[in-house]
Amino acid sequence: MSPRSAFIRPARPEFLLILGSGLTVILIVGIVTVLLTREHASALLAAKRSTTNITQLINADVLRNVELYDLALHGLTAAATRKDLPQVPADIRHLVQFDQATAAPYKGEVLLLDKTGAVTADSSTLAPIPRNFANRDFFQVHQQNTDAGLFISRPFKVRCDCDQVWRIAFSRRVSGPDAEFAGVAVATMRLAYFDQLFNSLTIGSGSINLLNSNGILLAQQPLLERDMIDKDLSTRPNFKRMLREGNGSFRGVSSVDGMPRLYTFTNVGTLPLIVVVALSSDNVFAAWKRAALLISGATGVLCIGLLWLTWLLRLELRRRYRAEAVLSELAATDALTSLANRRTLDQRLHLEWDRTQRSGEPLALLMIDVDHFKDFNDRHGHQSGDEALRSVAHVIDSNIRRPADLAARYGGEEFAVVLPQTDGNGAGLIAEHIRSAVEHLPPVVGDTTPITVSIGIATWDKNNRGSLEELLLNADRALYEAKRSGRNRIVDAKGVQ
Ligand code: GH3
Ligand code: MG
Ligand code: MG
Repeated sequence: MSPRSAFIRPARPEFLLILGSGLTVILIVGIVTVLLTREHASALLAAKRSTTNITQLINADVLRNVELYDLALHGLTAAATRKDLPQVPADIRHLVQFDQATAAPYKGEVLLLDKTGAVTADSSTLAPIPRNFANRDFFQVHQQNTDAGLFISRPFKVRCDCDQVWRIAFSRRVSGPDAEFAGVAVATMRLAYFDQLFNSLTIGSGSINLLNSNGILLAQQPLLERDMIDKDLSTRPNFKRMLREGNGSFRGVSSVDGMPRLYTFTNVGTLPLIVVVALSSDNVFAAWKRAALLISGATGVLCIGLLWLTWLLRLELRRRYRAEAVLSELAATDALTSLANRRTLDQRLHLEWDRTQRSGEPLALLMIDVDHFKDFNDRHGHQSGDEALRSVAHVIDSNIRRPADLAARYGGEEFAVVLPQTDGNGAGLIAEHIRSAVEHLPPVVGDTTPITVSIGIATWDKNNRGSLEELLLNADRALYEAKRSGRNRIVDAKGVQ
């Protein structure tokens, strides 16, 4: 039995609490993600800037050096076309031919080859050793093309060179009076020049590379693998991209060791050379990773803490709402019978009365009083009286079905039943069910007189106007009439008037 008071769940505050915490967590995670993404981008930008500076430095140094070699070759080709030169003494001729061949660092020999590839002049001696380079790329390229310009050869190790160091050759075509092929001027350079240049630059964990435009690796510091020099990298996707773009930066995976790297590259002037600085991604983002780990960890702890507090608050809210619901139920209930108490009855009666006035639908009220209850108490004692009142209350409560119906203890051994949307006939039926069920309650041991109730019915409908007070008064009058006319019966107020 319950006074039909609804248990109000704390749905809205709980929802707002969870929504608020959820949004806060999303906001925190969002802000941290944005900050870390920006930090990541600026770490990448800083690495790109420093590697671009390095490539520019190398670019300038290599360009200046190659210019020195080219100057020597220009001097040699210019001297080779002079008709008067063969007539002058050998030492003077040597001076004219190699006048421009300054002592560039790491410079090897500067040679003049005739159209058969034979050495006709050597910067290191007045009497060149007979040698022939007709099968070498730096000779053949000019033999086959009139406009090869300054050619940079593939790396090679000099024949008969005791230290077997890597070199490259720069060569230019020597043309005869009718622009026919008359030989090649060639200067060699030790690749150690690049090693020295690259070693002088600090880039952390990464490598500096020089390739020619055919993808041949000329220099690498530090060497990623042995035998890297002269290796053909032209088929590697990274090289193809560099060749296509000319200069710039990108993140890619090294085809040598499969590691992610930041590649920054540039063409060396208009020369067929490409400088590539490859930084390991781990190195670029090492500081960022440490910071990201720390910040993510702290954010995670903060968010978990926030969610945990929200959970605790939610539990506390629920506990409080449950306690409030119990209290409000207690305040609305009669302690003896667990039916609604008088206060609840008054509230509901006013509520249903107002609703009835708006809708015009009928409203019925039953006033129920236990017959000769004083005698019952006298015969069986107050305890049994209480028990009997509980039984009657149970009968009344179990005979009303609709959610809007309400049974209440009016006071003492009196009860009231509010029946919205119920006319006199309906109310009469329910009253009869109650009356009959009470009459058939099992009698107290040793008592032959059953418990009975008298019921007064009053109804309101739109044809029968009146106030709420009149409705109550009519129900009371009908009850009085039921008592007067013998008890254990039902009287409708309509019949009384
Ligand atoms: P009537 O048929 O005319 O209603 O006679 P009655 O004896 O029932 O009416 P009366 O008003 O003379 O007496 C009501 C009695 O109900 C008096 C009181 O002892 C008893 N009563 C009221 N409240 C309680 C209660 O909570 N417990 C018990 N055991 N008895 C109660
Ligand atoms: Mg009474
Ligand atoms: Mg009574």
